[in-house]
Amino acid sequence: MEKVQCLIIGGGPAGYTAAIYASRAAIAPVLYEGLEPGGQLTTTTVVENYPGFAGGVEATALMNDMREQAVRLGADVRRGVAVKADLGSRPFHIGIDDGTEIEAETLIIATGATARYLGLPSELKFRGMGVSACATCDGFFYRKKDVAVVGGGDTACEEATYLAGLCRKVYMIVRRDVFRASVAMQEKVKSTPNIEVLWNCNTREVLGDANGVTGARLERKDGTVFDIAIDGFFLAIGHNPQSALFAPWVKTDAEGYIVTDGRTSATNVEGVFAAGDVQDPRYRQAITAAASGCRAALDAEKFLKQ
Ligand code: NDP
Repeated sequence: MEKVQCLIIGGGPAGYTAAIYASRAAIAPVLYEGLEPGGQLTTTTVVENYPGFAGGVEATALMNDMREQAVRLGADVRRGVAVKADLGSRPFHIGIDDGTEIEAETLIIATGATARYLGLPSELKFRGMGVSACATCDGFFYRKKDVAVVGGGDTACEEATYLAGLCRKVYMIVRRDVFRASVAMQEKVKSTPNIEVLWNCNTREVLGDANGVTGARLERKDGTVFDIAIDGFFLAIGHNPQSALFAPWVKTDAEGYIVTDGRTSATNVEGVFAAGDVQDPRYRQAITAAASGCRAALDAEKFLKQ
């Protein structure tokens, strides 16, 4: 059993920033990066709204730099996924998928969120064969082809404009007659000639054959059913917070987001803190995640020194 003062679970902006601050506070953080080192940001291309980069910054480079900064300051950053947790008493017990068992005096949960799917059997059938929840990961495979993006939020608009640069045509399947996205993102979509928005439409079925996706069957609000021919079907309908492992102890809201106390990162379990998208249904930005990682490290430091 390894004893750790400050254990951080999650390798996104929140986790790395927590590791940077915890290292400088000399509370010897150990960070496990989880399934997706770099976090969700690595599924995007250029980040234009992270302060300090006048010309924007490549997402993967930003995350690599955050990680390196944490390591240089003394954080023990490891590959591995937390698979067991017992937060019933302190020190907390966490089991890692490589068999490592850890006793942690404080725990910072920065496990982020993952993409939502519609839940259609055909969508599951063609996952990885034309169905994807990450345009920047998979868009490359659809160069000069026709694709569809489901959703009307910032992510959907961002992914549609990204895909429009690669693909011949991009349909956006939007279930209402308005976008949820910010005005700036809506403008980008409107000014991109090869994006066609299909308003008031829901997907009934993803169509395909042995080679993968060939189309989608859509239904308009008025009941009209029609098919579109596409090679790629991209989901951009929001995310689920990755809190299940800790939910038996840590209070979550109806959607599974960890509830933190006021402006702090404290959860209902003393010594357990939460940072980033796993506790943020509202802002979900790299910069807000990083800021909350800072708060969590400062809260853990204060807790340990009390
Ligand atoms: P959102 O929750 O903002 O939007 C989800 C979209 O998917 C909505 O249009 C929603 O429709 C639609 N949707 C949800 N469920 C379904 C369904 N079952 N069938 C069809 N459509 C569905 O999620 P995002 O991932 O877009 O954004 C999350 C957060 O991240 C937001 O706060 C956003 O502002 C932020 N963000 C910011 C970016 C930036 O600033 N560069 C980039 C990307 C995200 P409806 O509107 O009808 O509910």
